[in-house]
Amino acid sequence: MGKIVVAIDGYSGCGKSSTAKAVAKDLGFTYIDSGAMYRAATLHFLNNFLSISNPHDVEKGLRTLEITFQINPDSGKQETYLNGLNVEDEIRSMGVSEKVSEIATVKEIRKELVAQQKRLGRKKGVVMDGRDIGSVVFPDAELKVFMTADLETRAVRRQQELYEKGDLVELEDIIKNLAERDRIDSTRKESPLIKVPDAVEIDTSNLTFEEQVAQIVQLAKGVIDNEKDYAGNHR
Ligand code: C5P
Repeated sequence: MGKIVVAIDGYSGCGKSSTAKAVAKDLGFTYIDSGAMYRAATLHFLNNFLSISNPHDVEKGLRTLEITFQINPDSGKQETYLNGLNVEDEIRSMGVSEKVSEIATVKEIRKELVAQQKRLGRKKGVVMDGRDIGSVVFPDAELKVFMTADLETRAVRRQQELYEKGDLVELEDIIKNLAERDRIDSTRKESPLIKVPDAVEIDTSNLTFEEQVAQIVQLAKGVIDNEKDYAGNHR
């Protein structure tokens, strides 16, 4: 199958990551979770007591930050590593969720992570989800999707996810966190979350997981087919 870049952006807790992962699997593409990179950077700054308002701390934090992804051989799932340590569970904690959007406003941090994301997608055949993928990381992506869902639906889904990991969190706390992250992400100066004009909007409030995956896979296959020349070869 031809290789394209699929950029998926949208509000917090829309199910972008799980959807993007399933879309990548179906297309035989690589999945890249850009949010996990901001989360790992956040954990790094928290663990090392580095302040984003101190330029020396920001420089030190970035100099000592190494984020990688590895497939877990038992589960087959992709997991995030920070300086060689598996931090997949830790970066999803409420502690990190409460700080990540603040860290993601910092220009220098975004610059470094965007550069890494661009490198990871250079060879195409990737599905990447985040907030600025269609606008900044891959403005030339062949397919851009903007996912939305109402706040309550998103919070219930996120609560279920955390519950499955053994974390019991009040719905109200999750609603507050999602709303606050949306506010910071949409109003920040550096690459705010926006729906770019060429993105296809998908409201997942009333869709099942399978339906939202199928819609994006269908869109991607349509784009891949259109990329073929008249002889059926991929351009
Ligand atoms: O996608 P996820 O919810 O895990 O992302 C966590 C946070 O990282 C977001 O709320 C946002 O502040 C930041 N982020 C970002 N740009 C991206 C991906 C995530 O600013 N491309």
